[in-house]
Amino acid sequence: MTPILEVTQLRKAYGKKQALENVTFALEEGSSFGFLGPNGAGKSTTMKILTGITKADSGTIRLLGRDISANPALASEHIGYVPQEITLYEKLSAYDNLLFFGQSYGVKGAELKRKIAEVLERTGLSDRARDEIQTFSGGMKRRINIAAALLHHPRLLILDEPTVGIDPQSRNHIFGLIRDLNREGVTVIYSTHYMEEVEALCDRVAIMDRGTVKAEGPLGSLLEQYGRKAIYLEAPELTEAPSLPEVTKAEKEGSGWILETEQVSRTMQALMELGSRLRWNVKQLEVVRPSLESVFLRVTGTALRD
Ligand code: ADP
Repeated sequence: MTPILEVTQLRKAYGKKQALENVTFALEEGSSFGFLGPNGAGKSTTMKILTGITKADSGTIRLLGRDISANPALASEHIGYVPQEITLYEKLSAYDNLLFFGQSYGVKGAELKRKIAEVLERTGLSDRARDEIQTFSGGMKRRINIAAALLHHPRLLILDEPTVGIDPQSRNHIFGLIRDLNREGVTVIYSTHYMEEVEALCDRVAIMDRGTVKAEGPLGSLLEQYGRKAIYLEAPELTEAPSLPEVTKAEKEGSGWILETEQVSRTMQALMELGSRLRWNVKQLEVVRPSLESVFLRVTGTALRD
């Protein structure tokens, strides 16, 4: 199967600042791709290059198997882009904003009216269609911004940190909408600096830091490859962590111990034997699920903080 998007070695500098060093990834149609990285990592720059708003200094982008530098109309035809900044006319109604955006995407007449009704319904704002945008909350404006990006029925939807600074109700609505669109076959690229959003929404992840994709793949593979492997053990007798050759690091957590190990089953077995021999009163002994946070820490060497 041809990937819907292939991005190869994108580079971009703003003056002396090298915003993108090397951004390379590919996406199968229908996937939901999380772009995870701290502020300044290069996520927005990458997205702006994908949509044709910014030009890369070098590198190639193939959309549906075709180079977009040779076919610039491809991006506007197939990509819906929701920028980080709200781009709506405050004094126009939601409906008139959507009319304007639809026309700029080349949707017209009865088809545009039908699409506007549909996207308003999907974003839960049909009853506010005739109200001016300036009366909307931040979350509602964001939902209209997403609605605008859906009018031309894009195959690839790119959202740049769409939940920053919005209320929980709008956030839940946006999550539900993205899941539904993805189920219907729309490929989604979602940038965020919140791990839990990637875990909730995305089947593939790119970890971006300092202008480079440091690791990329299915969420499960990244957790398996880079996630912290550990066992949680709680037994009141253990005033110190049990010493086992496979345990690379031990940390107190709550009333128990987190024991890091590359050989989870072997360590588990050893702990069970040791516990039974020394008659520990084991309250809990379980494998700790690897977290995306531990993947990020391993891959970038730093914690991802807000
Ligand atoms: P992210 O979306 O991950 O927060 P950006 O792509 O916005 O990252 O930024 C990447 C780097 O490029 C940052 O160091 C940022 O300051 C710089 N940058 C982004 N846009 C511009 C611009 N228009 N002019 C100069 N520097 C920029």
